[in-house]
Amino acid sequence: MPTLIGHLAAPLGIGLGLGSRTVPRRVLASGMVLALLPDLDVLAFRFGIPYNSPFGHRGFSHSLVFAAIAALAFTLLIGAARRRPLASFLFLFVSAASHALLDAVTDGGLGVALLWPFSNERYFAPFRAIEVSPLGLSRFFSDRGLAVLRSELLWVWLPLSGLGLWLYAVRRMRTAWIR
Ligand SMILES: [Zn+2]
Repeated sequence: MPTLIGHLAAPLGIGLGLGSRTVPRRVLASGMVLALLPDLDVLAFRFGIPYNSPFGHRGFSHSLVFAAIAALAFTLLIGAARRRPLASFLFLFVSAASHALLDAVTDGGLGVALLWPFSNERYFAPFRAIEVSPLGLSRFFSDRGLAVLRSELLWVWLPLSGLGLWLYAVRRMRTAWIR
């Protein structure tokens, strides 16, 4: 994975870029939770479930089906279904799915089971630029940790904050146009 903080870049960039009318604060906060949620599967190691099992790390919780179910559940749970349900669902789905897509761009571990339950194959992106983050905190505070942060700034924060700024600019231009 990128670091946990790195996974927040997608909901923050897209959510803040789209603005609070499209993505109210509660929906944004839920998107941040959903972007982190798939990595709860590291608990699988504790239960002796092997990494390459569909229920191991980067398994079912990193699939598009899981992202859709989790997004739907959160849309209903936070009451977003009453106001702009489709926009909320789409934002939450993209936030949840961004987790696996970012993991697929990392240079270590196994790939993500993106197409579970239809396939247990683990996928990586053809382009794997993000240095994988060590799972332990002690190993994180090392030269390796610095390299991880550097690659994450370049390949996660820079493009996603750029996307956020672009969405913001488009929104401002549209408002000016409508006026
Ligand atoms: Zn992950």
